[in-house]
This record gives sequence, structure tokens and C-alpha cells, in this order.
Amino acid sequence: MIDLVCGARPNFMKVDPVLRGLGGRIAARLVHTGQHYDHAMSQSFFDDLGLPRPDVNLEVGSASITVQTAMVMQRYEESLTDPLPDLVVVVGDVNSTLACALVAVRHGIPVAHVEAGLRSGDRTMPEEINRLLTDQITDLLLLTSSEARRNLLREGRPGEAMVMVGNPMIDTLMRLMPAARALALDPPGQGAGLVTLHRPSNVDTPGRLRSILDSLGRMNGMRFVFPVHPRTRRNISSWGLEPSVPSNVVLTDPMPYLEFTAREDRAAVVITDSGGVQEETSVLGVPCVTVRPNTERPVTLELGTNALCPDPLDLPDMVERQIGRRPATPPQIPLWDGRAGARIADAIGGFLKCT
Ligand code: UDP
Repeated sequence: MIDLVCGARPNFMKVDPVLRGLGGRIAARLVHTGQHYDHAMSQSFFDDLGLPRPDVNLEVGSASITVQTAMVMQRYEESLTDPLPDLVVVVGDVNSTLACALVAVRHGIPVAHVEAGLRSGDRTMPEEINRLLTDQITDLLLLTSSEARRNLLREGRPGEAMVMVGNPMIDTLMRLMPAARALALDPPGQGAGLVTLHRPSNVDTPGRLRSILDSLGRMNGMRFVFPVHPRTRRNISSWGLEPSVPSNVVLTDPMPYLEFTAREDRAAVVITDSGGVQEETSVLGVPCVTVRPNTERPVTLELGTNALCPDPLDLPDMVERQIGRRPATPPQIPLWDGRAGARIADAIGGFLKCT
């Protein structure tokens, strides 16, 4: 039996293909830490993806990084009973990823990490610390792209522990794109811009957030739909920034997966600081501008449709440039082919046989 851990929005589209790949051949306990807990950030994804109800919900809720990590550790440990799982599978780079990996190691349970080896090189990002530390204590490193191998080798991790499996988030995108394409959208998405922002470096200082909103307003020939992450919403309202939202920008609640990916697919351009959105737009062939000085997903810059824009003042120029570079057909990224979940299940099966 294995434990498969999810906790926050970007995790759900990664655990779903793993469960489908396992197909019941290896029993899995789905553990939801409750890091994201409200309907729009959690249950709506279980509904859209058709994920089974978690076997365990640790219900940690929101708290500071330190408290949240500690609470996940404590509650996850309490959820472990004899016999212990043979493997704990964690995904991505959220606090729950590191917290559950640490608990597993303390109990002598091997850890598999889906999306191992991604590095932005920016240690001020909480996610970068979660990635670095998780990979140091992971036994089975499951990689989405080739630069991950180089990063891990540089950090002294053994090549034998790595398996290139491809990108499970793209499995979910490919599986559900026909349903997303069948959706009618209100307001219509065709030709609009889509915006997502939630990284502390963009939304935790009023000056930076206002400067991004101002730049969206300077592109007043385009309408933007901006589903607002709870963290960003909280800051917009506590700083009284509602009047700074330009008239060409429509703010909405966080969107369910199908609606969001339908909008991504139809967008003229996507402006984001999300990791997953850089990947999804690359596969869809949709121009993407990432409002960050770095990315842990450089393959989206090299083979995909992504470009970095460290300074919000440059957004209008970057958006125009990226729209001009829209590829005629979506780019191909090796092993981002809809079959990563099956490869992850095979890698887990192989690992369990050898232990
Ligand atoms: N997403 C969504 N609704 C939204 C915004 C994002 O369904 O309103 C999806 C998006 O398609 C991608 C994932 O959420 O699959 C990305 O999650 P997020 O940006 O929260 O995390 P990150 O990828 O930055 O870790």
C-alpha cells in the first residue's frame, strides 16, 4: 500500500494521473492535507477531474508557512497506522510536499517525488526551499524534463534514483481538453487575455501589485479576465486597490479547472506567475508572459511559448512580442504526451519490487 499526498490546487491535476496509472494494481491511500480547503480551491477540482474522495483529510487550513508545515507533519504522523505504507508519494512543491516527505523519512518509509529536480535558483521562493529539501530525502525522483536531472546530479543525488516520466499535469490537460473545448464561456474567452497572479513577490507588496494592474490598463485594446487567487484577493481588498483595477480587467473568483483551461486555450495571451500555467500554455501553443525574473520550468522558455517579464512596466511590449510569436502548431515537449501517469505507476511498481 502507498500513500499519495495532495494538499493544494496545483497538486490535484498531478495526483489524478498517478491514481489512473496505478489503476488499482497498487493500493493507494489518497491523503488530502487540507492546505487548500475552500470549494473553489479544492472540491471543485475533485468534481471536474473526477477524483475519488480522499481517504484521509488532515484539514490543516491556512496558516503561516511554518505553522502549516508543522501542522501537516503532526497530523500526517498521527494518520499513520500499522502497517506503515510501503512508499509515500508526494507531488510538486507546496508545504504539504515537504512536510509529508519529512514524516515519511522519520518513520523509515521511502519517498517518491513527482516533479523532482525543478529549480528556479531563487531561494527567496518558499517553493524552491520545499523542492530542494524534498529532493534531498527522496528515494525515487520522478522527472518531468531533462534539466531536472542536471540539477539533481549537481546537488549530489544519484542518477539511479531518477526516472524520466514526463509531465502528469499535461495528462490531465489532454484528458479534459475536449470537455473544456465544449464549454460556452461568459464572458467569451476568444481573443481575451487571461491573468493569474499569486506569488508573494508579485502580490505581497502594494506597489508591485498596483504596477501590474497599471500595465494591464495600458493595454486597453484588450480585455483581460483575471480569476483572483485568495491571497491576491485578500491583498487587493486590504490595501483598497479595487479602484486601481483598470476597466478592461474583469476580476472573478478562482475558476474551476475546466473553465480555466477552456479560457487558457482560447486566450490571445496569458499573463501569469504560476508554474503550472507556464506548462499548460506551452502545450496548448498559447503565448504566455511570466511576470517573474526566473522560472523553474526553463523548458517552457526553450521549447514552449513562455517568456519572462521581470519588470511589470515591460508587460505591454512583452505581450505584443509574444502574441507575434504565436506558433502555427503547438510545440512538442518530450514525454509531455498524456502518458506520464502510466510511466509513474510503472516506476512505482518497479521501485516497490526492488525494496
Ligand atoms: N487553475 C485553475 N483555476 C484558476 C487558476 C489556475 O484551474 O483560477 C489551474 C491551472 O490550470 C493549473 C493550476 O491551477 O492546472 C495551477 O495552479 P497554481 O497556479 O495555483 O499553482 P502553481 O502551478 O503556481 O504551483
